[in-house]
Amino acid sequence: MSDVLLVLNAGSSSLKFSVFSANGEVGTPLATGQVEGIGTAPRFVLRGPGGEVRDEHSFPLGDYEYALATVLDLYGKRLGDIRLVAVGHRVVHGGVKFTTPVQIDATVLAELEGLVPLAPLHQPHNLSAVRSLSRMEPDLPQVACFDTAFHRTQPEVAQRFGLPRRFTDEGIRRYGFHGLSYEYIASMLPGIDAKAASGRAVVAHLGNGASMCAMLGGKSVATTMSFTPADGLVMGTRCGSLDPGVMLYLLRKGMTADALEHLIYHESGLLGVSGVGSDMRELLASSNPHAAEAIDLFVYRIGRELGSLVAALGGLDALVFTGGIGENSAAIRERVCRDANWLGAFNIHVIPTNEELMIANHTRRVLGRSGSSP
Ligand code: ADP
Repeated sequence: MSDVLLVLNAGSSSLKFSVFSANGEVGTPLATGQVEGIGTAPRFVLRGPGGEVRDEHSFPLGDYEYALATVLDLYGKRLGDIRLVAVGHRVVHGGVKFTTPVQIDATVLAELEGLVPLAPLHQPHNLSAVRSLSRMEPDLPQVACFDTAFHRTQPEVAQRFGLPRRFTDEGIRRYGFHGLSYEYIASMLPGIDAKAASGRAVVAHLGNGASMCAMLGGKSVATTMSFTPADGLVMGTRCGSLDPGVMLYLLRKGMTADALEHLIYHESGLLGVSGVGSDMRELLASSNPHAAEAIDLFVYRIGRELGSLVAALGGLDALVFTGGIGENSAAIRERVCRDANWLGAFNIHVIPTNEELMIANHTRRVLGRSGSSP
């Protein structure tokens, strides 16, 4: 009987999971998979260590608990002789307080609930997975790993908006996201580029959600996402940085807060500008001139933000690409690097991210099952 950890990433309609050995720092998951279409047409997929599909089926309309029960069913039936000993959750928001992963108890859960207004699109789903699991498996230890935590090393000046202090004091500040991805890259960089790891690196996490992080000696000093994951770069369906006056203008024209939220998170970015789609592969293959304009804007905004992050670092030793676009699209990397020529000499790396492994290692460490850092 071998002990395993379950890593969960619970979104609005999907539940992604990975199963890792609970002992040591084994890199490859024993299984991965997801339930998609929760609340509409749920579909379960289970993959083995090589990514091969082991099981795939639809199930009748089910909620989160049904999806979780299906995932938990794994270790009983499909993965054989294993024992689930802990669950690590990706939790989007840890606020100012949670600067490292933490084991979840009733007090922690209540504090994380208090952060829901700061991340209303993500936090409730992350926490509903926690609550469902506590009901189903009350003795199973659960650990929360935060997307914001890595950025808490930033100097105060980088975390502050130019608003009256009372707003900063109530939590309206630049938090930053994608922290588990950046932390993973920071953990890999010393073995790839010692100078950049101890010096000045900018990491571009370019996926559906996209952000960039300036790291000094492997610690975050600035990042493009701020109070919410809508800020910064142009993304698949999010607009990125926007003059706050635009929101006021649209509010006064009669748009509701809900409609604005939908606009900036789901209708904008590559999708909104191209009118073709949010998927970079689709845009690169398209002959529609609006698709080309959307890609131009995506690359242009990366270049502008790169300049800003390099200013925060006082120079650049390496630019690292990660995320679905950063890892797979040589065409986008080439364009970004060409635009960054003015920066002179710096190293360029592609490092595939692995947020799940980061969560697994944190979970092992928080529960005292591993002494070393990843
Ligand atoms: P998420 O933020 O949802 O985790 P991913 O990191 O998986 O997203 O990135 C998804 C994006 O990566 C999509 O825009 C997809 O088109 C893009 N992508 C994946 N492979 C390629 C490729 N070979 N060329 C260009 N874009 C790619």
